[in-house]
Amino acid sequence: MTRPIRASNPHANGPRQAALSRHAPELRPITSLRGVGEALASRLAKLGIETIQDLLFLLPLRYEDRTQVVPIGTLSGGERVVIEGEVLLAEVAFRGRRQLLVRISDGTGSLTLRFFHFTNAQQQSFTRGTRLRCYGEVRRGPSGLEIVHPEYRRISAQEAGVTESSLTPLYPLTEGLQQGRLRQLTSLALRELATYGVTDWIPASVLKKLALPTLREALEYVHRPPPDADVAALASVRHPAQRRLAFEELLAHQLSLRLLRKEIQADPGWAFGPDTDGVVERFLASLPFRPTRAQLRAWREIEADLQKPSPMLRLVQGDVGSGKTLVAAIAALRAASAGFQVALMAPTELLAEQHARNFATWLGPLDVPMVLLTGKRTGTARARALEELASGHAKIAIGTHALFQEGVQFHRLGLAIVDEQHRFGVHQRLLLREKGLAAGRFPHQLIMTATPIPRTLAMTAYADLDVSIIDELPPGRTPVKTVALPETRRDEVVMRIREACRQRRQAYWVCPLIEESEQLNAQAAEDTAAALSQALHELQVGLIHGRMKPREKEAVMERFKAGEIDVLVATTVIEVGVDVPNASVMVIENAERMGLAQLHQLRGRVGRGTAESTCVLLYRAPLTEIARARLAVMRETNDGFEIARRDLELRGPGELLGTKQTGLMQLRVADLLRDADLLPRVQAAAELMLAEHPDHVQPLIRRWIGRDERFGKV
Ligand code: ADP
Ligand code: MG
Repeated sequence: MTRPIRASNPHANGPRQAALSRHAPELRPITSLRGVGEALASRLAKLGIETIQDLLFLLPLRYEDRTQVVPIGTLSGGERVVIEGEVLLAEVAFRGRRQLLVRISDGTGSLTLRFFHFTNAQQQSFTRGTRLRCYGEVRRGPSGLEIVHPEYRRISAQEAGVTESSLTPLYPLTEGLQQGRLRQLTSLALRELATYGVTDWIPASVLKKLALPTLREALEYVHRPPPDADVAALASVRHPAQRRLAFEELLAHQLSLRLLRKEIQADPGWAFGPDTDGVVERFLASLPFRPTRAQLRAWREIEADLQKPSPMLRLVQGDVGSGKTLVAAIAALRAASAGFQVALMAPTELLAEQHARNFATWLGPLDVPMVLLTGKRTGTARARALEELASGHAKIAIGTHALFQEGVQFHRLGLAIVDEQHRFGVHQRLLLREKGLAAGRFPHQLIMTATPIPRTLAMTAYADLDVSIIDELPPGRTPVKTVALPETRRDEVVMRIREACRQRRQAYWVCPLIEESEQLNAQAAEDTAAALSQALHELQVGLIHGRMKPREKEAVMERFKAGEIDVLVATTVIEVGVDVPNASVMVIENAERMGLAQLHQLRGRVGRGTAESTCVLLYRAPLTEIARARLAVMRETNDGFEIARRDLELRGPGELLGTKQTGLMQLRVADLLRDADLLPRVQAAAELMLAEHPDHVQPLIRRWIGRDERFGKV
């Protein structure tokens, strides 16, 4: 079984961990810190903080400068500052709400501290003459300058003017723990660090070449930067101390993914054996076209994996329209003829339906029983499909995530194919794998994505996968011409469609996505369809959206494919995968709101035949800077890899990789884009560590990766 590792107290983990922690002082439990008792420890444990190391690697999000006391007389409001003063007066007032007002003065001016939440004890403590140091945002209130709920403490006369000796770190807010408390705790941990040091798991040879501060220096610096610290470098996370930590964090993630991959490869899988019948040859010969060299190369790489008795874990990256489906079909056929079942999972119903049609056309003559399983397929149809899968009669199951819901039983799943994987997370991939576990063996996995990403990034983000690249489009394609027009020029666009349809071509008109409401989306699409069929009364205008029944959608797609519909008005349901080669015009409304990957996907619906195709990006002015940049990229290039690279520059890798969904790479200091220059060295270091210091790998991973994100076998 694969499930998250439970990270428990390392001391409870038996003699090995105990031995490790003797050498790694930072692995001692936080209860060994003075003043941290059982009660606090159990609260911290809930936040995943159990050892001194956990505190040391709880890194500040940003910093404030509290190294200077500012005279009250120089304030004008709007600044975050440290002030000192003596209490003149403290009173409870009722101005709409009960509140405590404390007037303080430092000789240069006076200011009010305003508290809406306060205790009696607090109120009593503000006796006249008490000296306070406060920190907070100054603003203009009803009676002059004030700070609402300042951080404050009482100070003695001797302490006056003696401020923080370092910039003040602000930690990620951890439930129920105030910043002051976190600073106190990290101070304790830093004191331990000063006495006992911290284990550096990275080989010395790697560190030498990096020429960055030591781990201890880096930790001391980021937790308590000196007053003269380069604040700009710190704020942009480019300070050498932060880079040192970023390197270590990236390395930990890289190692974690590589281990996951190793574990998966160590599992027993199905070796398919050679294709003695030559079924693949026969299939390829039956096609109306020849596979491209890139498709064949990808297939050969897959074929080699399928021969091995360990589960394949391969990603096929290929631009839109590069023909990934065919590669999937070859693999599926091969699995079926070797006596195994295949699951093909698509991100949308529409795409699942299209795959089912394609597979039926291609593999139909070879007599491979198939079922379609989507969320909307219910009742007897579903029951029959489930039965055919469980009995092993059906060889190929095509569907959405409904494929790995409860109740779905495979007889002998040998291959799981996931299309457009950026929509699925690592969790779902693992789930599908579990589903296929039969007779103690795991299925092969093939993942196809149309979101190509630059190579170093792929090697980092998908370090748990092998990668095949389809870098060639089928012959005879003409690049799509792209124009961006303000929506005020809609009429011209309608003319253009009329012209194209007169030449027996077809068009898509994609309506914008309205918020998250499927109903509003459907409504917008219906309105557009009505308007277009009026403007283009001689043409057939069709409509497709997410709220239609699968059978209705299927029927519309059939008619569009058959040329009975000239203009297909659609919501973004057609974003991925839909394939109608005769369509040569793509109009995208509100293009300024869409991301580059989505625009590229949508545009990829045209330019699939030999006719010259056009993509019209309709936008609503005024454009934001980033929207303008995106439209420019779309006009300049058709190359998915180039677009991905530009996308990365424009918005950073987090969104590109969909990490929010995958739970992969939740980084604390590092950033895949900002620290991209570190990646080659991270990869080299990971290899070196796995080969020469395997016992350092787990401790490094544990240091950086939270228990919920970590995968592995127990
Ligand atoms: P994608 O990689 O975006 O999933 P598809 O698999 O949908 O692309 O393929 C796009 C179109 O190209 C389909 O109509 C498919 O039948 C066709 N196709 C695939 N391979 C070839 C080829 N080698 N020669 C010609 N057409 C091909
Ligand atoms: Mg596809």
